[in-house]
Amino acid sequence: MELWFTEEWVPGLKLSVQVKNVVHKEKTKFQELAVYDTETLGRILVLDDVIQTTEIDEHLYHECLVHVPMMSHPNPEEVLIIGGGDGGSLREVLKHKTVKRATLVDIDEGVVEASKKFLPQWNTGFSDPRARVIIANGLDFVAQAKEEYDVIIVDSTDPIGPGEALFREEFYESIKKALRPGGMMAAQTENPVLMPDLVRTIFGRVKKVFPVAKLYTGPMPTYPGGFWSYTCGSLGPDPGEPVRDAGDISFRYYSPEIHRRAFVLGPEVAKNVYGG
Ligand code: SAM
Repeated sequence: MELWFTEEWVPGLKLSVQVKNVVHKEKTKFQELAVYDTETLGRILVLDDVIQTTEIDEHLYHECLVHVPMMSHPNPEEVLIIGGGDGGSLREVLKHKTVKRATLVDIDEGVVEASKKFLPQWNTGFSDPRARVIIANGLDFVAQAKEEYDVIIVDSTDPIGPGEALFREEFYESIKKALRPGGMMAAQTENPVLMPDLVRTIFGRVKKVFPVAKLYTGPMPTYPGGFWSYTCGSLGPDPGEPVRDAGDISFRYYSPEIHRRAFVLGPEVAKNVYGG
């Protein structure tokens, strides 16, 4: 008998993928978690029936989310990741030799533990001596932050359930306070074509808080609509311009050209977020 996993992208639009094997299923303290092996997407992590990350395209998302702020910052040493319990963003952050410490704060220990057991493509950063994992609500952690960071990455679930808090203006205010001078943040901010009102609202909050706010986009086949946006808030450096040599980092998708191109928005998306 064929087994299929189906996610409702938006009302009236669904993605279905054939499942070869149910690797793991559990109800964590916060979410329904499942790991499947699929025919076309390889191993996938699902939370509350929403695909979080897939073997076939996770590099597109993680490289866009992480390397854009990391390469626009002249010397990122202290990095904070909020969410990202699968470990993909941590793995990418740790590729940068400038990084002295990468702190990952996820609300759900179940996601981190599932990654350590079942997601070998994602979890390599957890054993790096520069990595520190804290189980806490990102909203509270950043509001009470005692340390300061050069780069903060928000790798959250969608703005429903526990992830909702990570799209609030008060959260961006706390992030701004937790950044060192010249610091910057990048957050995943949903699909600008399928969800223009949501993207405009989130971008508006970042823009209200940060002196520099810019939206960039990239392909993401397994997220709703296949096209994704990210928002940078910066205290100084232009997020659109890579300023460092990547050294010996081997990228699968990112390049300085992709970085600059990601900030080139079509007129409709640009008007939606920047107005005019
Ligand atoms: N790339 C994914 C996407 O866009 O669908 C997100 C992947 S990552 C698995 C998202 C993580 O955010 C989850 O592990 C979840 O537990 C975490 N998360 C959700 N709300 C949170 C909160 N308030 N504080 C910290 N982590 C949170």
